[in-house]
Amino acid sequence: MKLHNYINGQLTPPQSGNYLDNYDPAIGAVYSQIPDSDHRDVDQAVQSAKAAFPAWSLMPAAERSRILVRVADIILERLDELALAESIDNGKPLSLAKAVDIPRANQNFHFFATAILHWASEAHIMEDKVINYTIRQPIGVVGCISPWNLPLYLFSWKIAPALASGNCVVAKPSEVTPMTAYLLSKICIDAGLPAGVLNIVHGLGGKTGQAIVEHPEIKAISFTGGTATGERIAAVAAPKFKKLSLELGGKNPSIIFADCEYDKMLTTTVRSSFANQGQICLCSSRIFVERSIYERFKTDFVEKVSKLKIGDPLEAVNVGAVVSKDHQQKILSYIELAKEEGGTVLTGGYAVNPEGRCANGYFVAPTVIEGLDYNCRTNQEEIFGPVVTITPFDSEEEALTMANSVRYGLASVIWTQNINRAARMAQQLQSGIVWTNCWLLRDLRTPFGGVKDSGVGREGGFYALNFFTEPKNVCIEIS
Ligand code: NAD
Repeated sequence: MKLHNYINGQLTPPQSGNYLDNYDPAIGAVYSQIPDSDHRDVDQAVQSAKAAFPAWSLMPAAERSRILVRVADIILERLDELALAESIDNGKPLSLAKAVDIPRANQNFHFFATAILHWASEAHIMEDKVINYTIRQPIGVVGCISPWNLPLYLFSWKIAPALASGNCVVAKPSEVTPMTAYLLSKICIDAGLPAGVLNIVHGLGGKTGQAIVEHPEIKAISFTGGTATGERIAAVAAPKFKKLSLELGGKNPSIIFADCEYDKMLTTTVRSSFANQGQICLCSSRIFVERSIYERFKTDFVEKVSKLKIGDPLEAVNVGAVVSKDHQQKILSYIELAKEEGGTVLTGGYAVNPEGRCANGYFVAPTVIEGLDYNCRTNQEEIFGPVVTITPFDSEEEALTMANSVRYGLASVIWTQNINRAARMAQQLQSGIVWTNCWLLRDLRTPFGGVKDSGVGREGGFYALNFFTEPKNVCIEIS
């Protein structure tokens, strides 16, 4: 099967005529091909977006909203087809794609399509003689680049607010998981999205992605992906004075106090460690446990983790395939590093070859490691797979020191029944999100993003709409 770009409302082959192989990671085999697009395709997409911009940006918000709600509705109507495509493309359990990825893509479109109906700007009055008001205008043509871990979920998280606020978009999904973005092209055609408003260009990061970031007529880039890629994008975009939103890597801590609601904590910590094979930027990969319950936690956690069912993502499993062979090798090499650094593998630690059709797929057993210093590479570098470390602590201060020791600062989790302690910790944790006694509860109105090397800027709610618009101060003196 050959995928196409979506440019000017049409499904279009790449100008080079070249295609890239796309793998099903659960079986370890090529199952489709995607356009190997270059700067010519990106330029064509930009020109079509530019042409569509005047009509789209001047369209009444209610009309834009209606079209985007239609996109949301069709996503839900095609949930089964999209979930299956996501599971095959990414290796994630089909049940997860059905319960989380695709419903969330629907919600992203629905949320931003309706948010624009409630979005207001402020006025500032000076001594009754002067009125200042703020107009928020769309930027024009913007670029959206997304990763492979939550393909349609994160693709739509960017595209929906960009379109809702009146921009036209040139977007690139990850070349590793292009399928649901391709299906979204068809949904946009069926929903009657005007030609050129959204353009989806497939291809490699260093070629297609780079061409988007470099294009002089793309004035803002919203990017989610690795920190090293974010650095490269910032280096290209900064001298061109492009607006940038960067959602980058993480190495998130979970801090468990002895007074927590134990059973809920245990179940949630298994999920926050291994959901989506640990490939969620918000997964906890460093678990710090108060020493008085460390041994109990270790026994119970390892028992639960070792019972997780791993295998064919299309069947009833807890853990599917990791996204690619390269990624599998990277994860396994970090497990080797952890051993070299003195860690003990308590469960997992190896590649899995399930019986049957997935025998050649890319699977890694959920892995728990203890005995590592918080400063070692295993505990400092992002692995982004089903690997967590557990470490005891004796005081709040020690937990904070270890939690804050990394270059990243995306999401932290605290488990305690003591509200004062929870509030104290939340203030001092260096991260953009702090969950207390829960994980991955997401209200789309809240600011989403990281501090330190986990990113620049915030998306979500009006933060995203603000990013995709320029505020203009209009000042009138009344005479
Ligand atoms: P990646 O950085 O390799 O790729 C992300 C996207 O950027 C892909 O579409 C890729 O093709 C493109 N790209 C690569 N090089 C580029 C370049 N030079 N110019 C423009 N585009 C380029 O990331 P990945 O491996 O797909 O995703 C995993 C990473 O994403 C992890 O580090 C994870 O923490 C991070 N992530 C962060 C968040 C967040 O919200 N902070 C969410 C999900 C994933």
